[in-house]
Amino acid sequence: MLVSATEMLNKAKAGHYAVGQFNINNLEWTKAILLTAQELNSPVILGVSEGAGKYMGGYKTVVGMVKGLIEEQKITVPVALHLDHGSYDHCYKCLEAGFSSIMFDGSHYPIDENVAKTTELVKAAHDKGVSIEAEVGAIGGEEDGVVGMGECADPKECKAIADLGVDFLAAGIGNIHGKYPENWAGLSFETLDAIQQLTGELPLVLHGGTGIPADMIKKAISLGVAKINVNTECQLSFTAATRKYFEEGKDQVGKGYDPRKVLAPGFEAIKATVKEKMELFGSVGKA
Ligand SMILES: [Zn+2]
Repeated sequence: MLVSATEMLNKAKAGHYAVGQFNINNLEWTKAILLTAQELNSPVILGVSEGAGKYMGGYKTVVGMVKGLIEEQKITVPVALHLDHGSYDHCYKCLEAGFSSIMFDGSHYPIDENVAKTTELVKAAHDKGVSIEAEVGAIGGEEDGVVGMGECADPKECKAIADLGVDFLAAGIGNIHGKYPENWAGLSFETLDAIQQLTGELPLVLHGGTGIPADMIKKAISLGVAKINVNTECQLSFTAATRKYFEEGKDQVGKGYDPRKVLAPGFEAIKATVKEKMELFGSVGKA
C-alpha cells in the first residue's frame, strides 16, 4: 500500500536499521524494486527526481503506475512514493498528483528563506497526510544539473529546520551524489553525531548511498540515519547487465530483439542490487 514514509522511518530509527530509497526511471525499475521489497518483506521508498518524473510522462503517470503495480502485483509491504530533491513548485505538483512523501530541497536558499518555505510546505504536506523531508547543507556531486561541493551541515541549522515539523532530515556529512572520487575523505561522523545530539529522535537521511563502504553505512545507521538514498548503483548494475546482453550477441539469437528480453537482465540486476542494499541496511523482514 502507498503510505507516508513517517511511520516506517520512525520504526527504523527506533529499531536501528535504515529503509532504502531507490530512485525509479521506468516500469522495469519500479516493478523490480517493488517485487524485491515484497520478497524480502521490507518497507521501501520509491524516489522520483524532477527529471525522472518528467521522463516518465509526469507525476500523475508515475502515481498511476505505482498504484497499479501495488494492486496487481499484490504488494503488501509499506511503499512510499517520494519526490526527491523537489523545488518549491514541484512539491505542490506532487502533493496534487498523489505522492505520499515529498522532499523540499531548500538547501540553496539562505537559511531564513529555507525556513519560511519549509514551514509552509510542512503544513501543506501534513494537511494531506504526506511526509516531508528537508535538507540542510548541500550534498556534493551532481543531481539533475545541480552541482554541490559535499559540505557538512551546521548542526544548529539542522535543529532549526527539524523544529519546523519536518518528518525526516537530510544533512550533508561529506556525502556525494553519483560515484565517489578516489580521494574522497569519507563521511564526517563527528558532524552526524553533533546533528543527532540536537535533533534527537528525528530520522536522518543519507543521500548518495552508492559506493559508501559497508562499515561506514553501518556506523551512520548507528548514529541515527534511518533512510539511505540509492540511485546511481541501480543505474550502474542495470547498464552493465544490458551491455553484457548485447556484447554476447543475445539480441541476435532467436527473438532476442524482443524488448522484454532485452530489458530482462537489467531488471534482474536491479533486483540483485536492491536485495544487497536492503540486507546491508537491515530492513529485511521489517515490513
Ligand atoms: Zn540526494
